[in-house]
Amino acid sequence: MAFISSGYNPSKPMEGRISDIGPRHFSEFLPPVIAKNFGKWEYHEILEPGVLCHTAESGDKAYTVRCGSARLVSVSYVRELCDIADKFCGGHLRFTTRNNVEFILDDKQAALDLKAYLNSQKFEGGSYKFPVGGTGAGVTNIVHTQGWVHCHTPATDASGTVKVTMDAVFDQFQDMKLPAPVRISMACCLNMCGAVHCSDIAILGVHRKPPLIDHEYLDNLCEIPLAVAACPTGAVRPTKVELEGKTYKTVAIKEERCMFCGNCYTMCPSLPLSDGEGDGIAIMVGGKISNRITKPSFSKVVVPFVPNEPPRWPTMTKVIKKILEVYAEEANKYERLGDWANRIGWERFFEKCELEFSAHLIDDFRDPAYYTWRQTTQFKW
Ligand code: SF4
Ligand code: SF4
Repeated sequence: MAFISSGYNPSKPMEGRISDIGPRHFSEFLPPVIAKNFGKWEYHEILEPGVLCHTAESGDKAYTVRCGSARLVSVSYVRELCDIADKFCGGHLRFTTRNNVEFILDDKQAALDLKAYLNSQKFEGGSYKFPVGGTGAGVTNIVHTQGWVHCHTPATDASGTVKVTMDAVFDQFQDMKLPAPVRISMACCLNMCGAVHCSDIAILGVHRKPPLIDHEYLDNLCEIPLAVAACPTGAVRPTKVELEGKTYKTVAIKEERCMFCGNCYTMCPSLPLSDGEGDGIAIMVGGKISNRITKPSFSKVVVPFVPNEPPRWPTMTKVIKKILEVYAEEANKYERLGDWANRIGWERFFEKCELEFSAHLIDDFRDPAYYTWRQTTQFKW
């Protein structure tokens, strides 16, 4: 397509420039029933999976229908959402903190009709476009990252691993029969954009090989002290190398100290480390953010490595399904996955979920590692 100017003048870039205006105020977009009863809600119920009802002091009721989305969506998909909002909800909709989509209505029958309509919409390949669910004690959307779609540091893909995981646990999205909600999150490298460190189940991209060093260009492309300071284990040091009679300022990496975090690559383009066979996924469990009963906690690594197996990642989905099934079977009501594992003891968790315990799982990072070891004789055979 030929170039079409927006009116921006490249020879006077600051002319007519609008800046620092911030986001639109949310109140511009509230459905009337929400605007009217703002701050005056009395109680709420989950009517059925994916459908909530909030009752206000005035007696007004707001019915919310929640549906899953892929997060990464096209403009056509957003337009379809808008068409649905126009038809059922006076043009209003919202997105949740887990990237589900919510339609708010003031009539119960209209909400149930909308649920039926959303569940009837499919893509050509057969997938639901707007599957209704994600409420109560079930599995809701997976908070995830860029992966091979857009980032340069991933050790796995985000959209792909998330699609196959949601396919594997889809019945739990449409239902509410778990002991407590299960939050699954995904991050494609251990920068952990998102929520992997505080989720019931987490999928995390990991490397297993140290960076390659592009000595010839490193000093041109990188601020060497930053690469040195990026390393959590002090594996990187400045050095000089001779290549074909030329001396280059560069870095040396002590491989036995490197744990493949990739931080130095984030700082320095001359230290790439992604690797088809080396890279894969670690699985963590037992984190949560809420303060309900027990305090918030980090997720723990329980599977150090499963290989990347695009496009369906069968080993990964099998492990996640197994953990979810055993938890669903064994945990008490209201017990989050981490609460359950802490109660029965992690040695029992590994036994019940049939996970192999290896030395990789024992913390060896600085002084705090000590506190993760067992300083008691209390354990089960
Ligand atoms: S988790 Fe890592 S690879 Fe994934 S988007 Fe964030 S920085 Fe990029
Ligand atoms: S990958 Fe991580 S541990 Fe290895 S050298 Fe780079 S910063 Fe250090």
